[in-house]
Amino acid sequence: MNVLVINCGSSSLKYQLINMEDESVLAKGLCERIGIEGSKLTHSPAGKDKLVIEQPMPDHQVAVKLVLDALVDEKAGVIKDIKEISAVGHRVLHGGKYYSDSIVVNEDVKKVIKDCFDLGPLHNPANLIGINACEAAMPGTPQVAVFDTAFHQTMPEKAYMYAIPHEYYEKYSIRRYGFHGTSHSFVSKKLLEISGLDANNSKVIVCHLGNGASVSAVVNGKCVDTSMGLTPLEGLIMGTRSGDLDPAIVEFIANKEGLTVSEMLNVLNKKSGVLGMSGGVSSDFRDLDKAALEGNELAKLALEAFVYRVAKYIGAYTAAMNGVDAIAFTAGLGENDKTTRKNIVSYLGYLGAKLDEERNNIRGEEALISADDSKVKLYVIPTNEELAIARETVALI
Ligand code: ADP
Repeated sequence: MNVLVINCGSSSLKYQLINMEDESVLAKGLCERIGIEGSKLTHSPAGKDKLVIEQPMPDHQVAVKLVLDALVDEKAGVIKDIKEISAVGHRVLHGGKYYSDSIVVNEDVKKVIKDCFDLGPLHNPANLIGINACEAAMPGTPQVAVFDTAFHQTMPEKAYMYAIPHEYYEKYSIRRYGFHGTSHSFVSKKLLEISGLDANNSKVIVCHLGNGASVSAVVNGKCVDTSMGLTPLEGLIMGTRSGDLDPAIVEFIANKEGLTVSEMLNVLNKKSGVLGMSGGVSSDFRDLDKAALEGNELAKLALEAFVYRVAKYIGAYTAAMNGVDAIAFTAGLGENDKTTRKNIVSYLGYLGAKLDEERNNIRGEEALISADDSKVKLYVIPTNEELAIARETVALI
């Protein structure tokens, strides 16, 4: 059985076609600059040459059509007919308070995705267009929505309610939702599996550290807290997002610089984080590492502040759970950057967490990285959101 996984961003579409018999990736690819000049599809079939198509993609519907054509292409294709796709799994950013699990798409589900446009203005509209485009191109093929917020729906009220007038929750559903749910779910499950912890008596923390970054606290397999909020802006310092800050800063800078609230939010989402802190060096930690080594003090500060914030969240979640059995690092930075992992663990001596430097000397592979006498087990666990979405899809159909 082949499952097509689709992840529509505001101007992009990422996809993977996965053979669920052995969970192998038959092809993957990316449509970039949808709706903008210079649209491009890069299709990478397993074991074959890449196919690059540069032609206008005015909307996601055109992009979906090009992806399906590439999948059955005479040279670069991996299937003969789109009927060989048994189901499509869509990553949907925001399910609001309505969905705590993935669901087969019907008109009601589409209405909820639409009702959540306000909460995910860049992604939810693109997600819905992707679903409609696939329905049109593959009538009768089941479509499944996998929500990025779903895993965090088990958070208790005390963790998800903001301390603002209650009427805003009632009127506009303003609360913390959390994101990266597919990744936190996948990695926390894997962590329970490989650590030998009792799934019904376990307290774990997952650090998803990529360009977007978030931490979650998971008790007995259920999320009890996570660092992102109503939107992905809250929590950790990220590549370009500020994470937590005093909300009064918004008005202060807006007044001084003559910016609107939306322009300020653009600054906080796209020009802040380690990019902003470093004085514009980069949002990529590899560039920051290099700049810091060359003596750039702001790059050094950005890296230190990033690590410090992660360590503070781990401390907070340990307190929230009254202990922690294991911590997992995942995503681009968590999987690949041994120095960042080491620097974070250096704050955790009070927990009896001890890194084994030799074990930590790895990249992108699943591994135990704590010493044998560490009181907290530390792991690197590569995330695989596409595979998680494909598994959820198969489970539902
Ligand atoms: P996202 O999916 O949020 O865009 P990723 O999980 O792909 O992000 O992570 C991308 C980030 O991972 C890059 O910006 C980079 O900072 C970091 N990264 C990837 N590889 C390395 C590495 N070898 N060393 C340090 N940082 C790395």
